[in-house]
This record gives sequence, C-alpha cells and structure tokens, in this order.
Amino acid sequence: MSSKVQTPGPQPQAASQASATSLSNEEILRYSRHLIMPEVGMDGQLKLKNAKVLLIGTGGLGAPLGLYLAAAGVGRLGLVDLDVVDFTNLQRQVTFGSSDVGKPKTAAAQARLSSLNPDIRIDTFETKLTSDNALDLFKDFDIIVDGTDNFPTRYLVNDACILLGKPNVYGSIFRFEGQATVFGMPTGPCYRCLYPEPPPPGLVPSCAEGGVLGVLPGIVGSIQAMETIKLILGAGDSLAGRLLLFDALAMKFRELKLRKNPNCPMCGEHRTITKLIDYYEFCGVRGEEAPASDVQVPEITPRELKSRLDRGDDLYILDVREPHEYQISHINGHLIPLGELPRRVHELDSSREIVAHCRSGKRSAEAVDFLRKAGFRKILNLKGGILAWSDEVDPTVAKY
Ligand code: ZN
Repeated sequence: MSSKVQTPGPQPQAASQASATSLSNEEILRYSRHLIMPEVGMDGQLKLKNAKVLLIGTGGLGAPLGLYLAAAGVGRLGLVDLDVVDFTNLQRQVTFGSSDVGKPKTAAAQARLSSLNPDIRIDTFETKLTSDNALDLFKDFDIIVDGTDNFPTRYLVNDACILLGKPNVYGSIFRFEGQATVFGMPTGPCYRCLYPEPPPPGLVPSCAEGGVLGVLPGIVGSIQAMETIKLILGAGDSLAGRLLLFDALAMKFRELKLRKNPNCPMCGEHRTITKLIDYYEFCGVRGEEAPASDVQVPEITPRELKSRLDRGDDLYILDVREPHEYQISHINGHLIPLGELPRRVHELDSSREIVAHCRSGKRSAEAVDFLRKAGFRKILNLKGGILAWSDEVDPTVAKY
C-alpha cells in the first residue's frame, strides 16, 4: 500500500511542542466572539490554540468538522484520508469545490482550511488508517474524531483510542438518521460496550448504496465539532454515556443512556484485547469495496449481453432496483425490486433465459442466488450492473 505522510510548513520540534501562552492582536480580533464569552475567554481560546485534534476521514462528517474546528482556532488539525474527491461527493462534502474533483481529499481540505485560518497547523496523512499505523498516528493528538462510514474503521478507531486513553468523538449517518456520542472517556463506555460484535457483512448499506441527504452529515458533523470543542474547553456536559439519535424527517432528537459494560473485552475490568487486530477480518469484509455478499453466481459482462441482444437471442432482462432508481436511468428491464422478488417470482418465466441487473451488480447477485435456489437454471447476473453497462456499452445511460 502506498502512503504519503506530509507535515507541511516549518515546525521546529521545540516550538511545535511548547504551549502558546498568548494570542496575537490579529488572533484576538479573529476570535473576539469567543473571547467575550466567559465560558471561553482568553483561557479557553488558548486551550483551543494548544489543542491537537485528529480527524479520521475528510468526507461528509469531516467537512463541518474541519471547517468549524479550523475556524474556531484549534491549533493543530490532522487529516487522515486516502480518497480523492469524487463528483458525487460534492452533494454533501462542502469542504470541496467542483475544481477539487480528482484531487486527494487531504490536500484539497488542507487548502480550504488553510485559507479559512492560516494561523493553525494542518497535517495531512494521505493514507488508509490501519492496525499498523493507527497508534503511531493517534499518539501526537489529544482527541480523535471518527468521521468514517465503515465498521472496520470504527472498531479500529475505538480500540486504538482505548489503548492510548484518548477520547473518541463518534458520529454516524444513514439516509435521514444520525447518531453521535463520545466514547473512550475514563468513566464512560466505548464502542464495543455498545456493539460488542460487528453486524453481519452486507446488512448495513453504505451511503453509496443507501443514500444520504446532504445536510445530515452537516448536522451530525457539527454536533461532533461542538463536542470536540467542549472537551477541549472542559465546558458543559459531554455526550459521554449518552447516544444522541437524530431523525431528520421527524426533526426529533432522542437519547439513549449508555453504560460502561464491566465485561467489555476492550475497556472492561478484565480486558482481553490488548493490541489492534485485523478489523476487516473481524467484520467479515475484505475492505470497504468488498462486495456486500460473497454470493458466487454465473455472470455475463455488459459487452457479452449487448452482442447477444444484437444477435436476437431471447433474453429476459430483470431489473431488481427500486422504482426511483429506474426513473434515474434504465435499460428497459422488467422491474421487480429485490425485496419484492419472493412474492412476485411467479411473474418470471423459468423457461426463458434471464439476465438480472441492478446498479452495481451486488443486489442482482443476491437475486440470482435466490432464483437459483427457487429452481431457476438459466439465469445470469449482469457484471457491474447498470454502471458497467454505461461505461462499456451505452454512455447515454446515466450513472448515479
Ligand atoms: Zn467498552
């Protein structure tokens, strides 16, 4: 794996470690709306200036986190991300502009945050967070903020924080619902107290599969930024021990009390986990891009399908996506959403050859697997789904 770690700007060892004891006149002006509040004041602003916060992920949650923490004057921010800015990110990752598409996220975020606040230090780590580098990356920071969207990284961030005794400001989002809390405080619970075991692979879809309303990570990431600043200031009641649940459609906040589990393998009295493990194996996935299921089914490539259709072969195209996806783009398939397949299976003629497709080929693999178990023999999965069809056969079919 290639990884690039950059720590830009002059940073004499002694100077970077010494605590700032005063603000320049320009900083006093910049932070004046903080300074006039007794809860922050000069002491609080200096705490912010001396604080070191590591953001895991610079995406949807990372956007408000980075923007608000930089604007607030957190003196040192670390950004960990290996991705490059994708056009589909712009709907929610408001750190980035259209001209950033194709650039590394860490570099694009650093440029944006430096322009917002040139007085702070921003370290970029263009790498994937792994069991090999997590402890080394975390050790120089006071607070770790988890802005990722996958289970292996959540467990990894949790375990590394507990091993190092650092707070883990947690947030997660899905469609219209969000969660936030603070794990890893001395008397509070950790992520494993709440979720000892990861969910079965494929049970929880990602933003790419399930969608997310763009404002939602803005709200949840802002809550994480607020909790981070409160921890730095030592002000107010943190979310430690409480899981905040946000339902954007109902516009309701609820909270669940979280208790430290005395038998927690990570933070309990008799810790059984003493080092970082292979979290992809633990979560049953090979990586973020790993397919949702390990279903092995017969496949056909888009080009093979095109040539067979051109030849006039009698193929029945089954589209197992949702109706709103069909409206975005389609290839004239017969629409039966995956979830309705069991009760609508009679609509299919098992004597005809069927090619099932979805957006990327994951759901249709499950459909093919289901239909084979139901006795269908002549059935193929369109490899790569409608995305691959657009790439390889017909670019007028919109990708989403
Ligand atoms: Zn625990």
